[in-house]
Amino acid sequence: MTSNPELAFQAKAQEESKRNGKEPVLGGKLRSKAVWVDESLCIGCTYCSCVATNTFAMEPINGRARAFRQDGDSSKLIQEAIDTCPVNCIEWVKFEDLDDLRKQLEAKSIRSLGLPPLR
Ligand code: SF4
Repeated sequence: MTSNPELAFQAKAQEESKRNGKEPVLGGKLRSKAVWVDESLCIGCTYCSCVATNTFAMEPINGRARAFRQDGDSSKLIQEAIDTCPVNCIEWVKFEDLDDLRKQLEAKSIRSLGLPPLR
């Protein structure tokens, strides 16, 4: 069987995906809101990191949860993780507010909860 190179020119080009206005400054497939953990309130139960495993992890020095990436899990799964938090210290925030929130957190004195339990 011989191949016909003309077929390559007859094939329709793939349509470029349309912008939806939710692209953050970084570009890519991020949502319109960012997720934020107020580590000063976190009690280190690890629930969120067990539910949305590609978003939350236990920070090793203070043993509190941190959102280490914003595009790891679906909004639905992240919301499920938020709903499991017993102290309601995870919330949706604007991407633009993340830097200020980080600075405010760094200014607080946070007591270490020790190492998170092994899973
Ligand atoms: S569910 Fe809440 S309290 Fe538990 S580790 Fe996550 S952020 Fe901390």
